[in-house]
Amino acid sequence: MKDHREIGRELELFFTDDIAPGAPFWLPKGMIIFKELEKFIRELTEKAGYLETSTPIMVKSQLFKDSGHWTKFGEHNMYNLALYEDEEEQAFLENLELAEKNGQVKVLKPKGGTPTIWPQANYTLKPMNCPESTILYRFKQRSYKELPLRLSEIGRLHRREKSGEVNGLLRVRQLTMDDAHIYAREDQIFEETSNILDMIMEFYKSFGFEYEFRLATRPEERAGKDENWDKAEKDLAEVLKKKNIKAGNKKGDGAFYGPKIDLHIKDALGREWQLATVQLDFHQPEAFKLEYIDEKGEPQRPVMIHRAIFGSFERFIAILTEHFQGAFPVWLSPVQAQVLPISDKFIPYAKNVADDLKSADIRVEVDERNETLQAKIRDASMQKVPYILIVGAKEEKAKKVAVRTREGKDEGAMNVGKLIEKIRNDIENKS
Ligand code: ZN
Repeated sequence: MKDHREIGRELELFFTDDIAPGAPFWLPKGMIIFKELEKFIRELTEKAGYLETSTPIMVKSQLFKDSGHWTKFGEHNMYNLALYEDEEEQAFLENLELAEKNGQVKVLKPKGGTPTIWPQANYTLKPMNCPESTILYRFKQRSYKELPLRLSEIGRLHRREKSGEVNGLLRVRQLTMDDAHIYAREDQIFEETSNILDMIMEFYKSFGFEYEFRLATRPEERAGKDENWDKAEKDLAEVLKKKNIKAGNKKGDGAFYGPKIDLHIKDALGREWQLATVQLDFHQPEAFKLEYIDEKGEPQRPVMIHRAIFGSFERFIAILTEHFQGAFPVWLSPVQAQVLPISDKFIPYAKNVADDLKSADIRVEVDERNETLQAKIRDASMQKVPYILIVGAKEEKAKKVAVRTREGKDEGAMNVGKLIEKIRNDIENKS
């Protein structure tokens, strides 16, 4: 069994480099997998009535102080920067010079002139999207008619993981999250969380994982009133019960702002991962004074539901890579079919076949190298290409291809039209 870093290099999907610890470089083939997952998640969210948004990566630290993340999540877990406007920087330097003249401080100035004393961090690279999502909500006055308002965001986040804990794509400092925040009335909690659980189950069906939901309740260190916690925990337990989902328990493992239902999966290697999450939150709507106007024209506070289907693209792709050992399902395979002409003479026919597949939106390559057929088959199998298509005189004459699978199975000669139908079927069914 190979680990995702090794497979990532062999199949030219992704890698990490010391120049950017904890942040992956995506190669073109890896980016195909990333984009396919992105497309799938967008299809699901659009169908479920979500509206896609985007918020800034770098924001004033004050936002995370207001949300409670600064103390509860921990300022040392975020990347904080001291970035002042030109005039603020100028004023700071002048004050520093004055203080030095008065003998209050001794400023060490290395060559180049930047002083070693610098003001406090005032900007943060967002470690999560939630607080900024509330700013989108507050953009205008909201009416009960707009709720539930489902705002999704595929956001790039930064988290300050310790160097010893950074691990390939499994534990990164820069991650991309398939995030969403739903603003709802209290009487909509049941339906919204129920729909999210359905969406999660539909998504995970496509990968053949064993999975289990778990209810995580209030942690020791938390924000918000206990009566809200009581209600939120009861709501989530009820959704699970009514949907007949047997869920495990994670006592004390909720987020600091609310309880959650997490999805745990088991991969092909028997390892367990926590991926999807649904979290109820009464705290942030209060911290940011979110409101909507009800039927009677009175301001009311909405509840916020956080949800992610796979959490981070990076970690999910690492898990998939190891789970499938690089032999991704056809819809995710960077190259879905490779045509191998048995000699140069058959390159034109190989290209014709490839053109036919391309026009059916199948990702196809022709191996034009001057190698033996055996070497070409071996390389295509090692690259885990699901459909290996061999063409020679017999196939050209019959307008067919000889099909082999990456596992080495010989499927015999097949008509090109039939083959396209078969591959399209695999792609559409995500099988
Ligand atoms: Zn959130």
